[in-house]
Amino acid sequence: MDAKNCIQKLKLINSVSMATVGEDGSPQVRIIGVMHTDAEKLYFLTARGKPFYHELLRDKRVAVLGLSRFKEMIRLNGIPELLPKEEQAEWLDKLFEENPYMKNVYPGKTRQVLDVFCIEDGEIEYFNLGVHPIFRESYIIGNGISKQKIYMITSDCIGCGICVKICPQNCIIQDTLCRIVQENCLRCGSC
Ligand code: SF4
Ligand code: SF4
Repeated sequence: MDAKNCIQKLKLINSVSMATVGEDGSPQVRIIGVMHTDAEKLYFLTARGKPFYHELLRDKRVAVLGLSRFKEMIRLNGIPELLPKEEQAEWLDKLFEENPYMKNVYPGKTRQVLDVFCIEDGEIEYFNLGVHPIFRESYIIGNGISKQKIYMITSDCIGCGICVKICPQNCIIQDTLCRIVQENCLRCGSC
């Protein structure tokens, strides 16, 4: 798995949740259509009159989450950028061709109320609960910064083995000291 594959999977899922920060700081979430992807970039659109539009411009942080039928969760924490004004009309036409149902939602010239955004900076987390052991990885796209929090065993470990017995994914390897196989860790905190 890699960032490009994750973005492609979000396009295949197509209807994904996107969370923003509301004007009063409260969480806001809605379903959006992934209109287009290009390598590690994700494109979507919305109308300039919607509170969603203003949340995108004001806070500049979004969390996108999609779940595939194979129990793969793909989370993208990113920074949406409004495409330049002079490129908007061309992008709108391109996205409407790729997503014909939009012609029914915004027929004819009514599409002009829409603007296109692109996410190209952020962090992606791939979390597959459909395999055993579970599998997770994270990837940085563009100028994103990793904010992942992981459990680690320090040099204070005395090798008692208690954590090995209680780990639901058997992802703690006991040698002289113990270590966690991060790709298989649920981050449940039991250990
Ligand atoms: S990390 Fe595990 S093996 Fe090491 S001291 Fe803690 S419980 Fe024991
Ligand atoms: S956080 Fe949970 S899954 Fe991860 S190593 Fe600890 S017990 Fe295992």
